[in-house]
Amino acid sequence: MDRNQIKSEIEKTVKSMENELVDLSCKFVSFNSVNPKTNGPGEKEVALWLENIVKKMKFDRILHIDAKDTQVPYGYRPNILSILNGQSDEKTIWFMTHMDKVPAGDLSLWESDPFKPIIKDGKIYGRGAEDNGSSLVASIIALKAIQKLEIKPRYNVGLMFVSDEETGSEFGIEHVVNNFKFGKDDWFIVPDSGNPVGNEIEIAEKSIIWLKMTTVGKQAHASMPQLAKNAHRIGIKCALEIDNFIHEKYNFEDPLFTPSASTFEPTKKEANVENVNTIPGVDVICFDGRILPSYDLEKILTEIREIADKYEKEYDVSIKFEILQKGIAPEPTPADHPLVKSFSSALKDVRNFDPKLVGIGGGTCAAILRKAGFPAIVWATIDETAHQPNENISIKYMLDDAIVYAYFLATL
Ligand SMILES: [Zn+2]
Repeated sequence: MDRNQIKSEIEKTVKSMENELVDLSCKFVSFNSVNPKTNGPGEKEVALWLENIVKKMKFDRILHIDAKDTQVPYGYRPNILSILNGQSDEKTIWFMTHMDKVPAGDLSLWESDPFKPIIKDGKIYGRGAEDNGSSLVASIIALKAIQKLEIKPRYNVGLMFVSDEETGSEFGIEHVVNNFKFGKDDWFIVPDSGNPVGNEIEIAEKSIIWLKMTTVGKQAHASMPQLAKNAHRIGIKCALEIDNFIHEKYNFEDPLFTPSASTFEPTKKEANVENVNTIPGVDVICFDGRILPSYDLEKILTEIREIADKYEKEYDVSIKFEILQKGIAPEPTPADHPLVKSFSSALKDVRNFDPKLVGIGGGTCAAILRKAGFPAIVWATIDETAHQPNENISIKYMLDDAIVYAYFLATL
């Protein structure tokens, strides 16, 4: 079969599986697998369901890389890795999706029960329908289509269902990377972010830094500033100097990213005194920074500290920084990596457009894989309703993504 024939066979087969895809998607929505850190029951039930599916599909290996966790009564967080043998053992192409969900949030904003799926206008509604149910289901359907067509992909194919993506991945992919030996040439597809066209492949992300700056001066009556050290004034002056410094010095623009420059924003401002006629003795300002991977985040932190030192000395106050989150961006997956190239060309064949390679602000699971030295791409076709009330996914998007996966595997 040539590529065109493979494409039309796969399209026909995947489209004939629409009912099965809808059933899988609805079933996924019906599980309350809300992350335990946000007071949910966790992933046990959905994992049992998924394990049964891959068992029935006769995967060659099914592995549990569960993480111990006392937050849940059953004591562990499931991570299931299942492998279908390809023609060669040289590498495994992994599709990684997550089983946990964010909480439903304010129920009055939902038009339906978040854990009772409904189908309306070609979309499935419910918590997890998009994040990450859509890609989880699309990856299963892609492999079922491949099996139906009796195509044996060139390399092994792995479906990896992980826990704990929504609160930092300690019990999910982080645990798997530390406790399972992937092949050194393995490739990873992390379909957990994208756009409605499906024309962006994420290959890089920025470093992320969340800082809390606390200035401690001396409180006094507002009519007696000579007795005070106004922590608010000194704090905002210092914050502004830090802000200007970062934007002036770290102004390189990389067109891979949107926005193309590093970002550094003063964000949360904690309340200080309760009344207008008191000079605050303590002042707290937070920053959210997303720094291009070519810059050294540790060096920037040292420079921020030096600016604060100057203010401490000049005004005789204390300025402390607390790091609320720090993620140093790993090396991007190279634009000319064979994974990026072959996935791009598969996408181009199926959808008739040239996909764009992009970088994002940070914080996906792909970063954990890249840090461990593996190539990883993030791609999906979604309307970006994740974490919102009335989260939903188009059935057509799921079918179309399954076609892309199956075609990619069949033509490698
Ligand atoms: Zn997600």
